[in-house]
Amino acid sequence: MDGKEWKNKVLCQRKNGYDRFSEAERPAMEAYCTGYKAYLDAGKTERECVGESIRLAESKGFRPYTRGMTLKAGDKVYTSNRGKMLMLAVIGEKSLAEGVQIAAAHVDAPRLDLKPSPLYEENELAYLKTHYYGGIRKYQWVSVPLELRGVVALRDGTVISVAIGERDEPKLFISDLLPHLGQEQSKKPLSEGITGEQLNLLVGSEPLAGEEKERVKLAVMKRLYEKYGFVEEDFISAELEAVPALQATDIGLDASMIGSYGQDDRVCAYAALRAVMDLDDFSGRTAVCVLADKEEIGSVGVSGMQTGAFDTFMEDLCESQGVPVRACLEKSFCLSTDVTAAFDPNFPDVFEKRNAAFLNYGVGLCKYTGSRGKSGASDAAAELVARVRRVFDGGEVLWQMAELGKVDAGGGGTVAAYMANRNIDTLDAGVPVLSMHAPFEVTAKLDCYMTYKGILALYRDRT
Ligand code: MN
Ligand code: MN
Repeated sequence: MDGKEWKNKVLCQRKNGYDRFSEAERPAMEAYCTGYKAYLDAGKTERECVGESIRLAESKGFRPYTRGMTLKAGDKVYTSNRGKMLMLAVIGEKSLAEGVQIAAAHVDAPRLDLKPSPLYEENELAYLKTHYYGGIRKYQWVSVPLELRGVVALRDGTVISVAIGERDEPKLFISDLLPHLGQEQSKKPLSEGITGEQLNLLVGSEPLAGEEKERVKLAVMKRLYEKYGFVEEDFISAELEAVPALQATDIGLDASMIGSYGQDDRVCAYAALRAVMDLDDFSGRTAVCVLADKEEIGSVGVSGMQTGAFDTFMEDLCESQGVPVRACLEKSFCLSTDVTAAFDPNFPDVFEKRNAAFLNYGVGLCKYTGSRGKSGASDAAAELVARVRRVFDGGEVLWQMAELGKVDAGGGGTVAAYMANRNIDTLDAGVPVLSMHAPFEVTAKLDCYMTYKGILALYRDRT
């Protein structure tokens, strides 16, 4: 080998994905991203994402799983866990004793939930009090148009769907201080400039004629009653989420990126869903797609990844083949598909360039996540990372290795640890994001598409 061949052989060279991207793939990538943007607009809460995912899956032949159902290769089934978490499977020809191939993403996203007693009037303005969900930077959620989505469950069991602020409807809003009077506020650290108890949604200003007390609050409640049929006490049993009233859109003069609320982690949820829907070869292992809730608050609760609902789903599938679930899980593989931080040239100090994920470099593989010395990480085995390298390269998937940021800058976790705790080999992989957890996040189209291709390559892997 001459000098250059040696260099290419022994050195690992990171390259922009567009240097390796086949132009023939561009129409497929654009079509994929158009579908993804529609998915983002259709699903702004975990419930809406599950609903939209079921709608898409059913159009591709998936049907609800019922216990005891006979399953054969090529069967496509799903189970909705309380409308907030979705598990789908495409049955393969290989026995479940040989394990399943799982992609697990989450469909919850940071937002402002209404408190149980949210509505009040102050100085003749009506507000709804919120309790933020997930890790948000509070100052980012003021002065942006917001909408309210979710459900109100009445005492008699009726569940009312609420969507206030869509399209031409009026939006909600949280005020910030004008700069003219913001001198003291501006001296505070960013984390204290806006407090949790200031995240109050402005919902009305016109008093109800003929009334004397709390006339604006009364006008708001009257409107809600007339439109949706619920009363103030019903807020107690409601799940109403204030989310940005923004549509998904292309970003950049070259339209090479996508901007939207909730891309963490709907970008991977859509990739996993599309991959399991597009699977057309059933000769291998069973493919499983999990869209979990509650990742942003620790994967806890009945709909989070730690739930027994996933184990039940796996046990049900295994029972149909007379396979002990533990035998299936120990042979299974899970790609924990969640976003990672994209290197941001505006904030280079928190990144370590040699190990950061870059926009357009493809799907990012994270051997470990965690913080303060990998605490909370699943830390995949070297053999596992090698396997995914092989599968991705074989599927012509553009990928990169990624760490969230500098060692001591902070950190985060995913559902990976909870899958690994079940004795499932698990590796993190996902799309690099700019402004993660902000009301509006940005990803690169190439990375979104490569994440889909990566999951599909995993589902198709026969090794
Ligand atoms: Mn996430
Ligand atoms: Mn997150």
